[in-house]
Amino acid sequence: MRSLVSITRVGTYDPRAVLEAMEDCLAPLGGMGAFVRPGQRVLLKPNLLGPFAVEKAVTTHPAIVRAAILLAQEAGGTVFIGDSPGVGSLAFVAKACGLTPVLEETGAELADFSTPQEFDGPHNMVAKRLTLAKAVADADVIVTLPKLKTHGQMTFTGALKNQYGLIPGTLKSQWHFRLQRPQWLAALILDIHRIARPALAIMDGIVGMEGKGPSGGRPRFLGAMLAGRDLAAVDALACMLIGLEPRFVPVLEAARTQGIGATSVAEMEIVGEDWRTLRVPDFEKVSELEDLLRLVPLPKSLLNWIRGQWTARPRIIGSRCIQCDVCANGCPVSPAAIHPDAPPHRQIDDDTCIRCYCCHELCPNHAIELTRPRLARWLRL
Ligand code: SF4
Ligand code: SF4
Repeated sequence: MRSLVSITRVGTYDPRAVLEAMEDCLAPLGGMGAFVRPGQRVLLKPNLLGPFAVEKAVTTHPAIVRAAILLAQEAGGTVFIGDSPGVGSLAFVAKACGLTPVLEETGAELADFSTPQEFDGPHNMVAKRLTLAKAVADADVIVTLPKLKTHGQMTFTGALKNQYGLIPGTLKSQWHFRLQRPQWLAALILDIHRIARPALAIMDGIVGMEGKGPSGGRPRFLGAMLAGRDLAAVDALACMLIGLEPRFVPVLEAARTQGIGATSVAEMEIVGEDWRTLRVPDFEKVSELEDLLRLVPLPKSLLNWIRGQWTARPRIIGSRCIQCDVCANGCPVSPAAIHPDAPPHRQIDDDTCIRCYCCHELCPNHAIELTRPRLARWLRL
């Protein structure tokens, strides 16, 4: 049976328009009532990467969160909002991301994402036991609310990648350190997905992020909201909207090989707006060549060498750095491979930096850029 994905055109974040659009988007799936029953505890999982202002398009827009809360409450659910931000507490980040008025209006509460709990995943590929936020166990239903963005390490971040935030606090850094290849991290994300089993994804694709995502790129208007039970299908359709081949996205390629969801349009039943009319083919993506390397059948050692010559390294832009040390504290390597207070040529320790780009992702001032080595620049020419 093909995966049902619903797509709705919505040109504004006006709260009423977003609520109407979400009702339209969910209608072919049976409405929110098909996922939430009276009395259930509903965990809504937006992307709350860090304390970024709404207009930066880093985090899920408050109007999307509001609409999802209202529909879940209307279906009889008690709603909690949760994520594990890369920097700062959930309460602090939620406030910075404009969620305070939404919580006050709706009465929804923030979930406890600081208490960990171990979960068994007997069919998992990376970890048969995983520590996630206890809020996952407390919830009867999880609805994930991703933001459509590019991602320096994982190429694209959407519904499946959004599950990574179910890992509490610093444990995320530890996994980054252990799983240095995008493919390995992708396998972990699918392990989390197997345990958490979100019932529904509603993607904020009204304004996405292109270029240097997930935090340093540019907001780009797409005017789309996508929803579906099959998170891989929602992500794959979102990729098609931005002209990105799903097999170049490690988590979607892993989903395809593990038989998790639909990753091609042929496997989907797409309802609502004609998705081709919402395409933004010139959406700026991350490096195509790095993606291609994943598909080339070369010996592992040669592939690793080429990757080393190709892979972008972080660089601190001195004029923007405010010496807050967020990057060093978030670096999964111990001791940290980034030193903001060192002279420019010693700020990144090339020998120990694992190119996870957490520093780039977390820097509140966009003071870390990813620069390509000379060979990479030449190959691109
Ligand atoms: S590079 Fe960014 S995160 Fe690191 S110290 Fe400077 S401003 Fe802070
Ligand atoms: S310096 Fe940045 S890219 Fe390198 S390991 Fe640390 S957080 Fe990751």
